[in-house]
Amino acid sequence: MKRIEALRVITDRTPDLPVTATCAATSRELAAVADRDNHLYLLDAMGLTVSVGTGVALGIAGTKVSRSVVVDGDGSLLMNLGAAATAGYLAPDNLLILLLDNGVYASTAGIPTQAEKLDLGAIAESVGLQVLRAADTTELDNALQRTLAEPGPWFVHVRIEPGNEPGTPLLLIDPVVHADRFRRWLTDRIAA
Ligand SMILES: [Mg+2]
Repeated sequence: MKRIEALRVITDRTPDLPVTATCAATSRELAAVADRDNHLYLLDAMGLTVSVGTGVALGIAGTKVSRSVVVDGDGSLLMNLGAAATAGYLAPDNLLILLLDNGVYASTAGIPTQAEKLDLGAIAESVGLQVLRAADTTELDNALQRTLAEPGPWFVHVRIEPGNEPGTPLLLIDPVVHADRFRRWLTDRIAA
């Protein structure tokens, strides 16, 4: 499964949920699939996807917005594993982390990450997250249906191929304007 194929499955299931995505190629491809107000692209903030998504989960707890969805990569998660430990420690039951693991820093010449040897799903399990695994679009869609219906915190370890989708446009949105767009969408969604 290519990253963009995984992102298509994810966007089909999350049109009305806050989705926080890691920087670089993941955010660019997500925006290319669907650039929606419910997407928060972390642009240059590598390593903070789970931190921000956990904060969103705590912020929306008790509202009609049922999930905080995180789309992270192996390089980003490994940059800040403490965030996963914090997510497991705080254990918001509305948190859904989708780890797109290709074992490389795909945005920087495909240099291998430690995920080449480490099982990030097992690490997530060890910090208290409920883990599912998906290796193709059907398994990912099944995992999404389950994790959007049953209490978490969830961590779906999604295996994807190395590489980026050719021809994906750069994401040149102003970060301040973009954050404001997401904040307004989320505020309206909670109040609706
Ligand atoms: Mg990667």
